[in-house]
Amino acid sequence: MHRTPLIAAALAVAVLVAGCTDKTATSSTASAAPSTAPATPAIDFSAWTKGTSEPVADALYPKHGNPALDVLHYDLKLSWAPSSKTLTGLATLQIRPTADASQINLDFKPYALDKVTVDDEPAADAKVTAEKLIVPVPVTKDKPVTLAVAYHGKPATSPFPTHRGDAEPLGLTITKEGGLWTMQEPWGAYTWYPANDQPSDKALYDVAVTVPDGWSGIAAGTPVGQQGNTFTYQSKEPMAAYLQTLAVGKYKKITAKGPHGIPLTYWYRPGTDDKLVPSLKKSPTFLTFLEKKFGPYPFPTGGIVVVDSESGMETQQMITIGGKLKKFDAAGFEEDLLHEYAHQWFGDAVTPTTWTDLWLNEGWADYTQFLWEQQVYKFDDKTLEDFLRKSDAELRKKLGPPGHPKAANFAESNVYVCPAAMLKELNDALGDAKFFALAKAWVQTQKGTQQDRKSFIAFVNKQTGKDFAKLINTWLDSASTPK
Ligand SMILES: [Zn+2]
Repeated sequence: MHRTPLIAAALAVAVLVAGCTDKTATSSTASAAPSTAPATPAIDFSAWTKGTSEPVADALYPKHGNPALDVLHYDLKLSWAPSSKTLTGLATLQIRPTADASQINLDFKPYALDKVTVDDEPAADAKVTAEKLIVPVPVTKDKPVTLAVAYHGKPATSPFPTHRGDAEPLGLTITKEGGLWTMQEPWGAYTWYPANDQPSDKALYDVAVTVPDGWSGIAAGTPVGQQGNTFTYQSKEPMAAYLQTLAVGKYKKITAKGPHGIPLTYWYRPGTDDKLVPSLKKSPTFLTFLEKKFGPYPFPTGGIVVVDSESGMETQQMITIGGKLKKFDAAGFEEDLLHEYAHQWFGDAVTPTTWTDLWLNEGWADYTQFLWEQQVYKFDDKTLEDFLRKSDAELRKKLGPPGHPKAANFAESNVYVCPAAMLKELNDALGDAKFFALAKAWVQTQKGTQQDRKSFIAFVNKQTGKDFAKLINTWLDSASTPK
């Protein structure tokens, strides 16, 4: 997510293959599996091996997500009717249970259920209650099932647990023109499809969006094509639910090429977003800057969709950027784009396992943004150091250290600036050559995975041959700015 405007203004100067195989077929006969268990489906789950994760419960937001399920693949067929404000969906999920359970339980807002099946068998008792879809069909650890949910209804948003200046409700939002957009970090995917809405479960996606004549539907992933009024997107690289996006409106599309031919797509609304277009078209410049520092862009395509928001999100392969700006400043807007592009490496390719380590996303994206600003505004290293230390001191006092975010303060400035200051210390200690080699290796050898503080420290130490545990832990834990 983008840095809050306050700070920007101040500086205006393990893939588990075994998990996908059916190991229960022989053992379940001996242990007499419940007769209600679904029959083994005639589906080859190996196609979705890349969607395998090791989900965990989130310490900050334990009500969201289900660590007993690992969704491998979401196939979403969605249709939007602006006149009745009705979203109609068919979500087909390939799920690897990570534990035996008496039911399938996913995050889902209260849509009306039209039909629910598990391995093609109707699950008539399925219901949506307390923001959960509950399907009372028993599942067995590591024995994948296919859950299909047909539903319809009017989307509703969820409160955002934060005090950010640009805070808006989370999830699928209806515009006054009858269009749709969503921003959904730390959650909100569940406001438009049944989701394991927590970052430790990455999955593959196929999304098809059907819209009225003259409208467009946009989602994360690689654009596959358009057939009639249906727009299709595919994510062959695993993606956390908070990095999915959906926008529907009267959009115009621009296509372009990034460095070494990366296909790029910019979606904007003529008459509303025209002034932003020159900045969108600078995407190849941002990507070139980032590739030089962090290695190849980690996905096959990229792009930006402009929506009715004040914020911005690093949605995977298709950044969701707010066009509802109080005061348009091209340089500031471009910094936000650069920041969201940086997240494609830090956050999207390599994702924090839980929200406690949001600093791992925002620290890198923010530090990269400061390096970009340094190039644009030509301030020296001492100016950056002084600014970071001064901001760090104020933010630690106000919001606490970045390694211990509070549930009610999601993505506030301490998880941006303080870890950026830590990364500057690391950069200063290592020098540019070693620091950027470390950053590059972190992403390029671990893309597709989830990581946390412990694995980050272990990686830094292994890569550099030095022990930086104390430096990193002090910057993440200390109540005051480290010396
Ligand atoms: Zn960010």
